[in-house]
Amino acid sequence: MGEITSGGASTRVLEGTEHGFATTRVDALLNWAKKYSLFQYPFVTACCGMEYMAMASPRFDMARFGAEVPRFSPRQADLLWVVGTISQRQAPALKRIYEQMADPKWVLAFGTCASCGGFYDNYTTLAGIDKIIPCDIYVPGCPPRPEAVLDGLMLLQDKIARGDRTPAVVKPREDPAQAERLVALQRKERI
Ligand code: SF4
Repeated sequence: MGEITSGGASTRVLEGTEHGFATTRVDALLNWAKKYSLFQYPFVTACCGMEYMAMASPRFDMARFGAEVPRFSPRQADLLWVVGTISQRQAPALKRIYEQMADPKWVLAFGTCASCGGFYDNYTTLAGIDKIIPCDIYVPGCPPRPEAVLDGLMLLQDKIARGDRTPAVVKPREDPAQAERLVALQRKERI
């Protein structure tokens, strides 16, 4: 008998001559299905769109995570990608789209502008989409690297599997303060 653990729930799989059925919990099975069948609505407004396109391209291949299908009707999507700067004038349209999506739904802030307004510290720009809609995942970066966005997607999938709705921020894969090149540069400057 084998065991698969995902999102805190364990599934027992019968192997060898025992194969034929598996046992699990209904909510774990549903969460597993939701995790691998995300239909995205891309709300793309600015330069982060280039990185979004890179992520959907064969090199980074979002399709590997079962989340590549864009739907241009919010009623057919459950993952809202907010990609780029959101102006005060766009904010009502974004809120309307979020409200038109069916539950359960998730939101990912792609880049610094969507997360907190970025360097646009002015009256025309929304200082983060969480001022108008709930956000599940924040991906920092101007623009974020596709790897960071994929980390955000995997983080979201992990949260879906666990039924966890607490917002989370994608951490850098490498702490810039500890990066070898930067440390060497700092040492050189001290000499
Ligand atoms: S985070 Fe940077 S790259 Fe992305 S939309 Fe804002 S200014 Fe453009």
